[in-house]
Amino acid sequence: MAAIKATSISRPYSRSQRLALTTRQHLSGEDEITVEIARRADAEICRGPGDEGVLECAGSIFNVQDTQKQKDAYMHIGTVTAGQVKTGNTVKARVNRSERRQIAYNHSATHLLHAALRKVLGEHVTQKGSLVQSDRLRFDFSHFAPVSPEQLNEIEDLVNEKIRANYDVDTRLMKQDEAMAAGAMALFGEKYGDVVRVLSMGDFSVELCGGTHVNHTGDIGLFKIISETGVAAGVRRT
Ligand SMILES: [Zn+2]
Repeated sequence: MAAIKATSISRPYSRSQRLALTTRQHLSGEDEITVEIARRADAEICRGPGDEGVLECAGSIFNVQDTQKQKDAYMHIGTVTAGQVKTGNTVKARVNRSERRQIAYNHSATHLLHAALRKVLGEHVTQKGSLVQSDRLRFDFSHFAPVSPEQLNEIEDLVNEKIRANYDVDTRLMKQDEAMAAGAMALFGEKYGDVVRVLSMGDFSVELCGGTHVNHTGDIGLFKIISETGVAAGVRRT
């Protein structure tokens, strides 16, 4: 249970207003928190794979459609669907692990896998394709020999080490040339605009990506390689 200091906005918000509530902790399970109403949610902050669920308080319900990390606070974005919610209310959180979130786990794991393959097999490894689903991921990459069981173990261990490191997953908008200078990996042959979205997980993975991701690598939980095969000359699949 964490008490949050109230912001300057103290009037109650009611039904169907889209709001961002902030907390200083990442909610899980049945955590209780005190609400801080930060601001009305606007279009550009409403994206991402964050937790969905509801915040309940004495008959009032706040339906959370997304949760995003912003510096040291968490923003719960959604609408009041019953009653009123105001700053200073203590709410009970019920979190759904949605399919969207499961996909985000696998998408973020894909970035870690890409970086681990380059580290273990060499910098010649580049992404040739990938499939991200809620229950698995598949990754095709350039490499000219089968990957040994020892190398597969090393790759898997490295990804799990980076999951446990629990890096913040940060996104930044940058000019394309600045992003390249900062070492961001881009897909060969992909067209990017002048301004690109750079996704980084510590200094381990820095890639251009517009997709939805976890907030911290630790959210992924565990990574396991099921198979590795050749799918075309010089292209391997995990
Ligand atoms: Zn991505």
